[in-house]
Amino acid sequence: ATISLILQRRWKKAKRLGFADECVPPRVMENAARMLVLSGHPKRQLPFMQRMMNGPLKGVVASQAKKQVAVRARPEHYPAPYAILDMWANYGGNALAVPAGKPTSMEAIAASPTTKNLVRVYYLQERLKGFGKDSDFAPKHLHVIGAGVMGGDIAAWAALRGLTVTLQDQSIERIAPAIHRAAIAFKRKLRDDTQVRFALDRLIPDPSGQGVRQADVVIEAIFENLEAKQKLFADIEAIAKPDAVLASNTSSLKLEDIAAGLKHPSRLIGIHFFNPVAMMPLVEVVEGRESDPQALKKGLAFVRKIDKLALPVKSAPGFLVNAVLAPYMQEAMRCVDEGIAPEVVDEAALAFGMPLGPIELADTVGLDIAVAAGKQLASGISEPPRKLMELVNAGHLGRKTGRGFYTYNQGKPQKGAVGQVPTGLADRLVTPFLAAAQRCVEQGVVADAELADAGVIFGTGFAPFRGGPMNYLKERNEQP
Ligand code: NAD
Repeated sequence: ATISLILQRRWKKAKRLGFADECVPPRVMENAARMLVLSGHPKRQLPFMQRMMNGPLKGVVASQAKKQVAVRARPEHYPAPYAILDMWANYGGNALAVPAGKPTSMEAIAASPTTKNLVRVYYLQERLKGFGKDSDFAPKHLHVIGAGVMGGDIAAWAALRGLTVTLQDQSIERIAPAIHRAAIAFKRKLRDDTQVRFALDRLIPDPSGQGVRQADVVIEAIFENLEAKQKLFADIEAIAKPDAVLASNTSSLKLEDIAAGLKHPSRLIGIHFFNPVAMMPLVEVVEGRESDPQALKKGLAFVRKIDKLALPVKSAPGFLVNAVLAPYMQEAMRCVDEGIAPEVVDEAALAFGMPLGPIELADTVGLDIAVAAGKQLASGISEPPRKLMELVNAGHLGRKTGRGFYTYNQGKPQKGAVGQVPTGLADRLVTPFLAAAQRCVEQGVVADAELADAGVIFGTGFAPFRGGPMNYLKERNEQP
């Protein structure tokens, strides 16, 4: 008999779906199981549609499922989901029945480079999870200054993860949109109304900045202006707890320059989140030339506490993630300047295994931001990409204005048919990316090649099945 007794109220859905026979409180669980066995209740039959899908319609279901998988993973990159479908459709779900010589066999999947590299990615993730573990710093209160795109979302994320968060901006009107966004996100993530209320109670609008005094961590996320940040940190330092972590979310200013506004510049570290905060697992924790190692350790512990992956990096233009992305995106835009269609450029990157083409990525980040990042990070000698400048000058800033390299309809890029992808295009695109990753390792921006791989995979989505840029370079060099 199939007896599954599921204990908790929230598992009632399991019964509705047919995974469980009964759903009872723990104290009557054993009795209920006994009664069910003794009742002679006939074995549960699968609903009619499920029997059809497991029987005569199996082939159709498998081919539909394959199409759905194909939207997210190409078979040449990720063979395992296709192997599972083949096993279900043709071998009764028995992995051991698939002949060893077949590409969908357990032997072939286990031996594939994808498997080896994904196992590697798992261990890389474990290594990142280890940062901050050795600290007894247990932050409870975060104060965020700047309730814009980044500050608002950092505050919401930390409140969702259980911290008390005070959110400061120049006026309550500037904080309101962030709270509104948070309410929508909490509803989607938590579902339970009481939990949503608790999370919203933890997120406190604080236009006068009272929260600084009690906060264990203070994150500054105001606009990118050195003087404003210096002045702000001088004010914060005067009233914050002496052992509070003081951090900037700056993307492009030098941490050392911002720290010059402090009496004790060693207190400042960088805690650099990525946009969109809720989706991006990585956070760079930046060590400035003068940063106190203890502050850095606390910063790493804070990032772990809010369930993000912390990557320690040294203060350098673009840190790791933006330093590798910028030259890659610039190269892609140069290809467009040479007359290659954006769709073709993006397809070359997707075929390599990137999650999003570089042109669509530029549109998504915002072309104004791409220009600013390019100025700061690309070799100052070269001209900015022509088409990029034309679009920005005409006010077409990408997805947010409805037009950039692509035109957007309800947030979706309207792409034309992809023509022939020229040989070597993917190589041309990833070469600057790989070179930048290598440079970051050589210059000590990250401690070693493994951390460069981890940071780049979790910070940019770089083809996980390739095991990271440094791993890819190594494998490519080893090829005969
Ligand atoms: P934004 O323009 O959306 O928000 C900035 C907010 O700061 C505004 O609401 C403004 O009213 C407020 N502000 C300005 N001066 C203030 C002050 N003195 N006191 C209190 N509030 C003040 O900016 P953003 O895109 O969220 O960027 C903020 C920081 O995060 C920048 O340093 C940026 O480099 C960095 N960053 C941005 C991104 C991104 O993709 N936007 C990604 C990573 C890091």
